[in-house]
Amino acid sequence: MVIVPWNSSIPAASASSSSLPVICEVVFVLGAPGTGKGTQCQLLQERLLSKEDGSEQHQLWTHLSAGDLLREERKSGGSELGELINSKISAGELVPSSITVKLLENAIIKSNQETHCSKFLIDGFPRGQENMQAWESTMKHHTIKFVLNFECPEEVLVGRLLERGKDSGRVDDNMEVIRKRFKTHQENTVPILTYFGKQHIPLHTIDSAKMVEHVYNSVEPLFL
Ligand code: UDP
Ligand code: MG
Repeated sequence: MVIVPWNSSIPAASASSSSLPVICEVVFVLGAPGTGKGTQCQLLQERLLSKEDGSEQHQLWTHLSAGDLLREERKSGGSELGELINSKISAGELVPSSITVKLLENAIIKSNQETHCSKFLIDGFPRGQENMQAWESTMKHHTIKFVLNFECPEEVLVGRLLERGKDSGRVDDNMEVIRKRFKTHQENTVPILTYFGKQHIPLHTIDSAKMVEHVYNSVEPLFL
């Protein structure tokens, strides 16, 4: 077992401590790297709108990418924390769960305060049993509506990720780390899919090898 020499120093979001915890509905969006989690979550956030007559329409679901939150924290966090996140991402391994869950918790609180939206698409999390346990220890009051799981042949994913790597600027979009990310996904994320069933959390597996709009047409009805 790897013991990570790090103590949680991510401050809590600036919610007043006397306020009750906001109860949200979440959808976990999973799938190997390159399956289109972020792309589909963006479209859902943009296109699923309230239908109130007269007043301004607003988004029903907010997209939160665990990977994006970690990359942001790497930039703005203290050097020790930033280095730890960077070393894990660069190795295609998982960042300690306490860090990721704290960032998600802060992002949910902040976003809810700003937009009053209480439905979240959690993209790229939980990636393993330990992630799930960490979520359950502090975030169990939120309802997990269902889990979306994207599947796509590995050769298609490699093509997408190498294409993205040309201008993504990401340290992990290269062949060596892509292989490690696939391995981490197989070993850590795939096994927890059966856990959701045991918890009576619906799991929707979607074939995401097709064109973006085609995939979107399979995903959107799950939210209507
Ligand atoms: N990561 C992590 N825990 C998470 C989400 C991401 O440790 O809950 C790390 C992990 O190293 C992963 C990287 O961040 O390989 C990039 O994640 P992202 O979701 O951005 O990649 P994608 O799957 O979308 O290509
Ligand atoms: Mg992504």
